[in-house]
Amino acid sequence: MKAVIVKGAKQGYEVRDVQDPKPQPDEVVIKVNRAALCYRDLLQLQGFYPRMKYPVVLGHEVIGEIVDVGRDVKGFAIGDRVISLLYAPDGSCHYCKRGEEAYCHSRLGYSEELDGFFAEMARVKVSSLVKVPPGVSDEGGVMVPCVTGMIYRGLRRANLSEGETVLVTGASGGVGIHALQVAKGMGARVIGVTTSEEKSSIIAKYSDRVIVGSKFSEEAKKEDVNVIIDTVGTPTFEESLRSLWMGGRIVQIGNVDPTQAYQLRLGYTILKDIAIIGHASATKRDAEAALKLTSEGKVRPIVAGTVSLEEIDKGYEILKDKHKVGKVLLKP
Ligand SMILES: [Zn+2]
Ligand SMILES: [Zn+2]
Repeated sequence: MKAVIVKGAKQGYEVRDVQDPKPQPDEVVIKVNRAALCYRDLLQLQGFYPRMKYPVVLGHEVIGEIVDVGRDVKGFAIGDRVISLLYAPDGSCHYCKRGEEAYCHSRLGYSEELDGFFAEMARVKVSSLVKVPPGVSDEGGVMVPCVTGMIYRGLRRANLSEGETVLVTGASGGVGIHALQVAKGMGARVIGVTTSEEKSSIIAKYSDRVIVGSKFSEEAKKEDVNVIIDTVGTPTFEESLRSLWMGGRIVQIGNVDPTQAYQLRLGYTILKDIAIIGHASATKRDAEAALKLTSEGKVRPIVAGTVSLEEIDKGYEILKDKHKVGKVLLKP
């Protein structure tokens, strides 16, 4: 089969033929229906993910159909349509047992210690599988592990209450445009922030209010902003902090430039009762909740483009294109 292989740290990737995967006893093999490109891929290629084994198949977001099952696999069968969490937990520790498998000490990351999903087929540990209900399209399903399910959990960790106001930075991005929908689906009022006038009309379709510009806090403060989903990082963090009303929470899920530090004035967070929540991934429970929101039509997948394995370069061009809205998908 064809796969996108990363040979070593900072060595880029190449599309090449590799052996078809065979499942270990605790694994299934899926035919990849869709995978998704992510900014994390670019950070991985720049060497910011020290746990990567080499060579490794790139890509950590997937939906597919089971075509082979290992001998110890229970509860999943050939033909099932599934997504995978971004990591495989052991399923047996006290974190896993109470549904917080994101904190499992022995979790293994896809496209890190385990091969990822930019391939025609992929091996997936049964501990990371979640079944996809019939009402969810492949496009809707592939958004769950790294986008909609991850956002759902972030808002759960921020104790979002119905009727609170959520502001999303980078609102037209692959994560942002879906974060607006997840927050709204959970009963929030939502504000989308973008630096692009051109994209404000599409953001307006999914939000109650749009603010255009990099200095957005003044506008934002015209109402009480309770939760911020910051998908951008150091360029927006100061304005995000300023936008929050007392008791506010920032869910920090993106950072476009990991080399930049931010100097936090602690007094500001203390006096305003502000919580900063670093956040990265979904658990199965959140994935299932996001799949439910998707099947109910409350979250609709926004696709910026779909490329084949051979067109992966073009996929990253679209990902980096400032004019795109939504997520870039890969259809092997
Ligand atoms: Zn991702
Ligand atoms: Zn565990």
